[in-house]
Amino acid sequence: MNPVIFDKLKTLAEAAKYDVSCASSGTSRSNTQKGIGSAAGWGICHSFTEDGRCVSLLKTMLTNHCIYDCAYCANRRSNDIPRTTFSVSELVELTIEFYRRNYIEGLFLSSGIVRNADYTMERMVRVAKDLRTVHRYNGYIHLKSIPGASRELVAEAGLYADRLSCNIEMPSEQSLKLIAPDKDYQSVFRPMHYIQQGFLESKEEKKKYRHAPKFAPAGQSTQMIIGASPDDDNKILHLANAMYQRPAMKRVYYSGYIHINTYDTRLPALTTPPLVRENRLYQADWLMRFYHFKVDEIVNEVHPNLELEIDPKLSWALRNPQFFPVDVNTADYEMILRVPGIGTKSAQLIIASRKFGRLTSENLRKMGVVLKRAKYFITCNELPVYTVQEAKPEYLRQLLTQPGRKKRDDTQLIIQWHADDTDDADLRG
Ligand code: SF4
Repeated sequence: MNPVIFDKLKTLAEAAKYDVSCASSGTSRSNTQKGIGSAAGWGICHSFTEDGRCVSLLKTMLTNHCIYDCAYCANRRSNDIPRTTFSVSELVELTIEFYRRNYIEGLFLSSGIVRNADYTMERMVRVAKDLRTVHRYNGYIHLKSIPGASRELVAEAGLYADRLSCNIEMPSEQSLKLIAPDKDYQSVFRPMHYIQQGFLESKEEKKKYRHAPKFAPAGQSTQMIIGASPDDDNKILHLANAMYQRPAMKRVYYSGYIHINTYDTRLPALTTPPLVRENRLYQADWLMRFYHFKVDEIVNEVHPNLELEIDPKLSWALRNPQFFPVDVNTADYEMILRVPGIGTKSAQLIIASRKFGRLTSENLRKMGVVLKRAKYFITCNELPVYTVQEAKPEYLRQLLTQPGRKKRDDTQLIIQWHADDTDDADLRG
């Protein structure tokens, strides 16, 4: 590869790594003797398609010059870092070269803002357009829409890109104004609205004309940075839930804040990114999208933050013991889905198999149910020893979060707790 292009790629792919909205993962491995190839922590990342297929993407920025000064960003204009820019033709050729050599199956392109939103967006659109029209490239393209970009450019981008995204960044406008003073919610939500309109119009066109062009067939996604502002999970998940009500919105990504610009006092001095919180938010997001949970059931004014110690489904179950135990042989699909330790696949299998006879715990185990967790929340053909009703939520919480609990006899522990409770009651009496 041309060393100048290589240097540009190194800088711009490194600059793009903080954007998680293509579900990327980087790795670093050097070539070993007699080995083939090597992997670098930048440049090629992985994304998952709707059908679960993993595709590798060239993830880069068009430029890391930026006129904006977002407090959390490595590429903000106040930072003294090496800056560079790909020309449209350089990036198009690089993508085609990588694609031909089978290094990648697609392109994820973001950019810093140079001159203004439309100037930058126009160059990004040209990359996608040249790939599709000049090189007849059929691989995947994910373009980041620049905040404040015009309707015309977003509409054109949708004709060439599979997915468009525009990052909300902060869960409230107040936080956005404080941390990214050059942006506001209008500049973010307007392009999002254009994408949604293009998506819906294209769907209508398709009904009339079979060959009408598709607009961003993989829909749109967005990203929020978690932990850079005091916004609670209640605010984050309500906003995500509102986003999912929009027709073209496919994914909301949560990116744990990384404390890069340590000199900026507007930001919290986190020593490590809030990865557990990020993970809990993804689990809660999953509950809203696939487990029929309403956002208010997961977080609300009384429980504004997700528990870090346990996952949100278990947390809901322990807060609502009145719904348990669930009889897996008679309960409806929605209720079975709410049992901790039962996933969507197991729930579907339970519904399908119980037509043929009553289910036993052994049947459930074979269906992939995590019995060490689920057993406190269900009844099946054999009665469980103790459910959440007998064990009490607070004891169950201890039991399920105790390290090394596999080695312990849970039943003995519960009996012991009951004995302790009785003793306490006696003492109180
Ligand atoms: S607009 Fe903000 S987040 Fe985007 S590259 Fe510029 S400084 Fe970074």
